[in-house]
Amino acid sequence: MTRFIFITGGVVSSLGKGLASAALGSLLQCRGFKVRQRKLDPYINVDPGTMSPYQHGEVYVTDDGAETDLDLGHYERFTGVSTRQSDNVTTGRIYSDVIARERRGDYLGATIQVIPHITDAIKDFVLSDITDEDFVLCEIGGTIGDIEGLPFIEAIRQLGNELGSERSMFVHVTLLPYIPAAHELKTKPTQHSVKELQGAGIQPDVLLCRADRPIPEGERKKIALFCNVRREAVIPALDVDTIYRVPITYHQEGLDDQVLRHFGMEAPAPDLSRWENVVERVTRPEGEVTIAVVGKYTNLLDAYKSLGEALTHGGIANNVRVNLDWIDSEIFEREDAVAHLEKVNGILVPGGFGERGAAGKIAAARFARERNVPYFGICFGMQMAVVETARNKCGIATAGSTEFGPCKDELVGLMTEWVRDGVVQRRSSESDLGGTMRLGAYAAHLAPGSKVREVYGTDVISERHRHRYEVNPTYEKVLAEAGMVFSGKSPDGVLPEVVEIPDHPWFIGVQFHPELKSRPFDPHPLFKSFIGAAVQQARLV
Ligand code: GLN
Repeated sequence: MTRFIFITGGVVSSLGKGLASAALGSLLQCRGFKVRQRKLDPYINVDPGTMSPYQHGEVYVTDDGAETDLDLGHYERFTGVSTRQSDNVTTGRIYSDVIARERRGDYLGATIQVIPHITDAIKDFVLSDITDEDFVLCEIGGTIGDIEGLPFIEAIRQLGNELGSERSMFVHVTLLPYIPAAHELKTKPTQHSVKELQGAGIQPDVLLCRADRPIPEGERKKIALFCNVRREAVIPALDVDTIYRVPITYHQEGLDDQVLRHFGMEAPAPDLSRWENVVERVTRPEGEVTIAVVGKYTNLLDAYKSLGEALTHGGIANNVRVNLDWIDSEIFEREDAVAHLEKVNGILVPGGFGERGAAGKIAAARFARERNVPYFGICFGMQMAVVETARNKCGIATAGSTEFGPCKDELVGLMTEWVRDGVVQRRSSESDLGGTMRLGAYAAHLAPGSKVREVYGTDVISERHRHRYEVNPTYEKVLAEAGMVFSGKSPDGVLPEVVEIPDHPWFIGVQFHPELKSRPFDPHPLFKSFIGAAVQQARLV
């Protein structure tokens, strides 16, 4: 029997609701249950694929090619369970499905309304594609009271009623702000937010109270009394030094016990050694390295959520702290790149879109290549490294990417054809922008004897993609003569997936996004190896 836990947020946004869901998912998993995690996003975009990273942060890509909310990254990192298309939905998707059905005539005769048609579509989504999971955790984006969120809140209210409390439960994440003048944590915003939820017909079963300091017993009792929740179910969720400590602290505060009590279930105590090890390594490293991340969205680090985490995981694997020096690539277009990169132990150019800042990324790749600094290029970072080698090593001064407009030597060009699950996908420059990239998991074959083959320890890999352009295979020979080889290709041998410079301590570019599959307890081989190379480099300087 699958049970549903609905997670809502109150008072303010950015409470760490996604992390809270992920940590609860992990705790239930550590108690032996099979979990699945989902996110319902009330915004009107069909998916976050076309949103600016400044608006939305990272777009997390699933194996099956969905462009989703970054909270799905938290879910995967905390539980190791791969998310799917059916784990994230938006208002836009729900409406476009309902409207498509209306046009087909599926509701013939009916007036289509928010209740029941939109709410039914949301409920169908929540209940769909479930097999033998013990728990499905379903997080509602936004904050209680948001206009966009209303149909979702109504849908989960109905589900609570239909499934009954033996199969459903409501967890509300809220905030207790500290008011310095009063020297007090305040409970009133929480009371108001729970009232709002109750007004929508939902009585929370558990309150997760975020606070920056311990919550006095009196305040806890007060919240219980005013919010109609048992005192034990008012769970303090205090700030911690590393996000990977969250499952441990939630367990200490009794969150998982309260969930099991609600459902009348019993289970052995969780084995939290996985998290204890991770926390030990993150908080007590034996050394440190500094990595420059040269990108465009460096003043909104949510845009690089998985990347930052994967670099931390690389540090866990090597027992070092990884200091990240986020550098806006545009500065390399105005100043000499050298001063900024002189002291770092590795340079990473992440995924990106558009011409702005590209010249700076090319300058960073050149510095890494010429100065033997470990270089990791991801997607756009691989493409720019190829352009750099072509321009400065092969002497093709007009080498460029057609992403920036027509160019004489198309080292990187629009991908117009590729194979997905045996079917040829076709795109042109006229295609829609939304959902039309090469998305999701694709296999790649690694060349025998290559560095990347050694790093992975296997010949065939599967990694997640999100790109529209590709390195032009016709330049393979020219680049190889200049010392850059294609060491990974699509199974049909057509698309370049990995490039490397064998005559360099560590220079690898990948067309996919390995950061999406790294876990704190299972660091991705490329990040492990890259940070290992940075440790070597730190010893040399
Ligand atoms: N803009 C590039 C492309 O579409 C790279 C995309 C990326 O880095 N994710 O191919």
